[in-house]
Amino acid sequence: MSARESGGGNSNFTVEGNQNLAEEEGSNPAPSATSSGDDTESSLSILTAPSEAPPPEPVFGMMTVSGRMQEMEDAVSVQTNLCRPEINRGLPVHFFGVYDGHGGSHVANLCREMMHLILEQELMSVDNTQEGAHGGEPGGKEIENKEGWTRALKRCFQRMDEVVLNSCLCRNDWRQCSCRGIMEVEMTGTTAVVAIITTDHIVVANCGDSRGVLCREGTAIPLSFDHKPDRSDELARIKSSGGRVIIMNGARVEGMLGMSRAIGDRYLKPFITSEPEITFTKREAGDECLILASDGLWDVLPNEVACGVASGCLRRESHATTENLKSEDWKESESTGQFYPNHTTQAAALLTRLALGRQSLDNISVVVVDLQRS
Ligand SMILES: [Zn+2]
Repeated sequence: MSARESGGGNSNFTVEGNQNLAEEEGSNPAPSATSSGDDTESSLSILTAPSEAPPPEPVFGMMTVSGRMQEMEDAVSVQTNLCRPEINRGLPVHFFGVYDGHGGSHVANLCREMMHLILEQELMSVDNTQEGAHGGEPGGKEIENKEGWTRALKRCFQRMDEVVLNSCLCRNDWRQCSCRGIMEVEMTGTTAVVAIITTDHIVVANCGDSRGVLCREGTAIPLSFDHKPDRSDELARIKSSGGRVIIMNGARVEGMLGMSRAIGDRYLKPFITSEPEITFTKREAGDECLILASDGLWDVLPNEVACGVASGCLRRESHATTENLKSEDWKESESTGQFYPNHTTQAAALLTRLALGRQSLDNISVVVVDLQRS
């Protein structure tokens, strides 16, 4: 399996009995030694002791379904070992992104394809030798060169937005295109919640109402804050830029969009901004997992419930005897080729099922990262 995965690389679990609702992200079907039912025997026959030292790459699972919506407008991107930038002392950074599109899937798909590439460029070009670049001590609570990280992430979102605003639905430059897509793309956009995981920090950049939540010793800690038009600071920003928030089936910018920040949405500039809010969180020994998800999950599942469910799945892993595990519970280590148990996929699937059971009406995308093994 390649070090980089897009779409459903690791998501080879289907919601049973719900085929019409479950829709795997299929852009990159995994060579699934870990899961396809057919080669269960061969997979299991090369199992090795799962208690060996954890592999260096993150352990994660994901699920993305269209649910009760006809259109699939969510997109997910996972890029393990994205790059080894100087700003991270030459150590690898891992990228996780959830994009919840509106007005079509065009912008969310562009983000899935490009956001990590732009971020890689930005991270690799941070000048880490400048005076004042080292804001924190190595291993300290503060991340080193917070300003550099912030600048790289903000530039990334801005550049992504520019790409989107300059592209027609057909992906040509919109100024030179005469197809009908130009009108449609005006009203298309996406949320973006991006988590960068390093050995000692989790950096989350968010724009819109998808969300990242950290499960730490049984407590749910939000790492992003939804951009809703009626959030007091967002309301003030929208008004000061000349926009209005109108209550029409919830608070909406100009009576249309139910979030206050997004990538795309040319027709609502400048009231809608693509500038992300960024949080830095020092990793601790008690960190269990990180959940990134679209509002199809969060609208029906409180943070605490989601954390309890995901942590429960992962804890079950540490107590389970290996004989009880099914083939899809195993993941292959990129570095050693060995197999070890992975319940993050089940956690993501269970959260998705719960959201469907609670009548979520939206697309649902969930990524669970096991922080004990990542
Ligand atoms: Zn066009």
